[in-house]
Amino acid sequence: MYVNTVWFRSFTFLVVVPILLTASLAGAQQPQPAEKSKTKIVLLGTGNPGPDPDRSGPATGIVVNDTAYLVDFGPGVVRRAAAAFLDKRIEELEPTKLRVAFVTHLHSDHTVGYPDLIFTPWTVGRRLPLEVYGPKGLKAMTEHLLEAYRVDIETRTNADGNQRGFPEGHNVNAHEITPGVVYKDPNLTVTAFATKHAMESYGYRFDTPDRSIVISGDTNPTQATIDACRGCDVLIHEVHTPAWLATRPQTFQQFAAKYHTTTPQLAELARQAKPKLLILYHYTGLSRQELFDDMRARYSGHFVIGRDLDIY
Ligand SMILES: [Zn+2]
Ligand SMILES: [Zn+2]
Repeated sequence: MYVNTVWFRSFTFLVVVPILLTASLAGAQQPQPAEKSKTKIVLLGTGNPGPDPDRSGPATGIVVNDTAYLVDFGPGVVRRAAAAFLDKRIEELEPTKLRVAFVTHLHSDHTVGYPDLIFTPWTVGRRLPLEVYGPKGLKAMTEHLLEAYRVDIETRTNADGNQRGFPEGHNVNAHEITPGVVYKDPNLTVTAFATKHAMESYGYRFDTPDRSIVISGDTNPTQATIDACRGCDVLIHEVHTPAWLATRPQTFQQFAAKYHTTTPQLAELARQAKPKLLILYHYTGLSRQELFDDMRARYSGHFVIGRDLDIY
């Protein structure tokens, strides 16, 4: 009996406790059924600059009625959109339908999918130009990319070319923005707010008929993010844990202190912003469990750690 009790205690500690911990993470992670809502958030890339095969570079789809709007185009954006279409049956993310995108800032991890977004949907049939909104420098980046692919464009649109029937599909209308309302159509209004990162950078608030969604991009905690949310339905925010940051080189720690957000900072920000749901993206911790436990210990509101192709 003694042996059994010891065994049971050991079993409880070694097996049941980890199962409960895993279960609490898994339970908290269940994406909400998207059918109830007209507006869907599709996480296309929750990753960082490092090439993690399970986490594409930052990219988020906001789907309203029959239209998808993208925020950022990190590496893998078009293939993740295709996966959302093929595997999750999100018709609006079929690559030829990708027409409108908002970029938070011009760091490469958020923009190396830009030529992919310009050219891949065109090669499979997009006939209309792309509309892209973002900070100063976006027009120059767009012009340089189109020039870099001049040979491709010429050979696809000449008398012999396979895309000569729809030569407009690679065109881009790049719009450089300032804070305020930057886009409006019958589906939604998009408002940009200045954030605090290593360059001109914006977060965005999306107001649709049934939801309000705020996305941070890369930033230190800002009052502008709190003001943009103020009880919003969903806040999507970047984050890293102090324990992970302590493992990084001094130069990165100094950079992150000015331009990124820690779990204690995000917990405080979320207490003031009061989102109904907080989605962590562009995150780093020692592990998912470490990130979850760290955030849980600091924040009692509803939050999830986003995974690529989750739908909320
Ligand atoms: Zn950045
Ligand atoms: Zn980034």
